[in-house]
Amino acid sequence: MNLSLKGVGMTSQRTRDRLIDILKQLKINNEKVLKVMSEIPRHLFVDEALASRSYDNVSLPIGHGQTISQPYMVALMTEQVLLGEKIKKVLEVGTGSGYQTAILSRLVPNVYSVERIKPLLDNAKEKFRRLKLNNILTGYSDGGWGWPAKAPFDAIIVTAAPETLPMALLEQLVDGGRLIIPMGEKGKQELFVFQRVGDKFHKKALEKVSFVPLLKGKIA
Ligand code: SAH
Repeated sequence: MNLSLKGVGMTSQRTRDRLIDILKQLKINNEKVLKVMSEIPRHLFVDEALASRSYDNVSLPIGHGQTISQPYMVALMTEQVLLGEKIKKVLEVGTGSGYQTAILSRLVPNVYSVERIKPLLDNAKEKFRRLKLNNILTGYSDGGWGWPAKAPFDAIIVTAAPETLPMALLEQLVDGGRLIIPMGEKGKQELFVFQRVGDKFHKKALEKVSFVPLLKGKIA
């Protein structure tokens, strides 16, 4: 029996539970979101050198100038996705480490995620395979254009911030669907929710946030 490995597992469960307490204090109260976040091992999605900080409520570097989102932000955005009725199909723009994707995959039947940096995407796909998350379809593309071939989506979540709203994303929502997106220039970003009602969109600002920028094109 490998006692040391068992020890590591238990430690990460304890630190994960501490993170869940912090999320509750920050007013995350969707039980499904809290449960999934207590189960998905965030340490698998960060570099080994940073593993000891994986259950701190902070964003961390994942290479290529990008970051894994802060757990609170993942929880908040996931709660917003689940506010919709009968959420079957969600698109994430900005796969990054794949952590947010993994959380979504345990809560929504079909998850689509696009990333513009190939090595990050390949790395995330490997994590999905290891965790047997089989309901994720990924695309290597500039997600500012959404994923027209797979549209419409019940919800779209963007994990990098454009300065102005990418209209293509709004067009790929079902009626009643929600776009959850940080927007604005560095230092002045806010998280917004746009809900489609027929051909109109209701816009709501949630809170001040800090995301990496949504960039154009692809990197091999
Ligand atoms: N959800 C990720 C967030 C990673 S940071 C996580 O928690 O790990 C945001 C990611 O968006 C980066 O990986 C970045 O490369 C990606 N990104 C930025 N602009 C993009 C675009 N136009 N299309 C697709 N991905 C983009």
